[in-house]
Amino acid sequence: MSNEAVENYLEQLYPVNPVFNRIRERIAEFGLRDISVPDGYGRLLTMLVRLSGATHALEIGALGGYSGCCLLLGLPADGRLVSLELKADYAELAKGSLIEAGFGERVEYRIGEALDSLAQLEAEGARFDFFFIDADKENYINYLEYAIKLARPGAIIAADNLMLRGRTLDEGKQGPSVQAMRRFNEIIATDERLESTMLPAYDGLALAIVRK
Ligand code: SAH
Ligand code: MG
Repeated sequence: MSNEAVENYLEQLYPVNPVFNRIRERIAEFGLRDISVPDGYGRLLTMLVRLSGATHALEIGALGGYSGCCLLLGLPADGRLVSLELKADYAELAKGSLIEAGFGERVEYRIGEALDSLAQLEAEGARFDFFFIDADKENYINYLEYAIKLARPGAIIAADNLMLRGRTLDEGKQGPSVQAMRRFNEIIATDERLESTMLPAYDGLALAIVRK
């Protein structure tokens, strides 16, 4: 029984969700490979945001707005999402997705290198209670440090793609993103500022609470 067979079996139990299908359709129409979070983790993000009572979420890596929509679904009506995206045209695609989903007023896109936007948010004194890290893997450790800095006590940090489609476990792979991800996973498991777990399904998801 492979991971994938289990994921596919569980996924097909769910009715088609037109909002999410539409976002995936927009990503395809734009000509992008759909590397949005899998539906199963998207539902988990929505549930975690709702369960935690978060009101301010920060996403690093927007693509077509799929995970942004999941985060907004879990936020209260006055909740806000800030989303950091390198590419202006992706941010526009994502914004269009969220407008169609009825969330246009509640999201702010900041375009450019996420590290620059994070420094700016720090300078502004911004604070968040939910983080989703899902951009360039070389910077995951830097993003984690910023998330801890910008966290309200008890904030939740989620991070996608721990396994890099198998490369994390392949000793033949020693590129910068693979090495960074191995180190990131070690930090998630051992950093005393965090309480954490890592989910092995799909491409691996880290979940951490910033200790009070
Ligand atoms: N979170 C999205 C998928 C994000 S894919 C979802 O699940 O729906 C990764 C995104 O990170 C891409 O859109 C890419 O343009 C963006 N990205 C890559 N490097 C970045 C950087 N240095 N700063 C900000 N965004 C970056
Ligand atoms: Mg991802």
